[in-house]
Amino acid sequence: MTKKYIIANWKMHGGKNFIDNFFAVWPLSFSCDPKVVICPAFIDLDYLRHYMNYGFSLGAQNCSYMDEGAFTGQVSPKMLRERGCKYCIIGHSEIRRVAQEKFFKIKEKIALLMQHNITPIICIGETKKEHDEGQTLPVLTRQLKEAFDDKFFENIKASQKIMVAYEPLWAIGTAITPEKSILKPIYQKLHDLYPQVSFLYGGSVNEKNIEDFLSIPFVSGALIGSASLKAEGFKKIIETVYGKTKIN
Ligand code: PEP
Repeated sequence: MTKKYIIANWKMHGGKNFIDNFFAVWPLSFSCDPKVVICPAFIDLDYLRHYMNYGFSLGAQNCSYMDEGAFTGQVSPKMLRERGCKYCIIGHSEIRRVAQEKFFKIKEKIALLMQHNITPIICIGETKKEHDEGQTLPVLTRQLKEAFDDKFFENIKASQKIMVAYEPLWAIGTAITPEKSILKPIYQKLHDLYPQVSFLYGGSVNEKNIEDFLSIPFVSGALIGSASLKAEGFKKIIETVYGKTKIN
């Protein structure tokens, strides 16, 4: 299979013991790829760097829209870059729902992340109700327009990566996945509006269905929550995409 992105969103799981146990089941000869991105809680970013010899990249689960200042509890793109982050998830539905995050700040976050050479992974997705009412495409189009200014792409270098992860809210953590056929019109809309942006899928991806999603040519990778927390299963996902563990 072509090398595609595997983005692990560890959410609020982790801590030193979790991380040590996670990597304890991976043989020393096991090698990831920089396209395998692990996004731990902020506090675990530094500790995860002990395991960077496995070859994965570091990402964060959110960021501030400001570089520094009186913003209690926030972490800036500048700080993330200093800790080795190359990717940052933004606009995740759990953050929008729990923290009532105003979606319009997404623009500022994207701009600041790009300034610090961090690839934004922008989550979009519709609710079950919107899906059932046939509102998927208008909802996603509105979310995309809230994320990108018309002039945004004029200032972006061709080498700078931007990713959009389509995560239907009804597929996150539910073991339900959409029919693969619904992905094409969504990708097509994204491509028509913003051809430079890569398309990822997220929502109940695991070691059994990763191949179904990543074998779709226009899907550049997967965003994975629960299935990225089990080291054995996550290793299988990596092996499906990158081939078997190298034995030295
Ligand atoms: C997510 O929340 O980004 C996600 C994809 O979760 P899960 O894989 O558990 O559905």
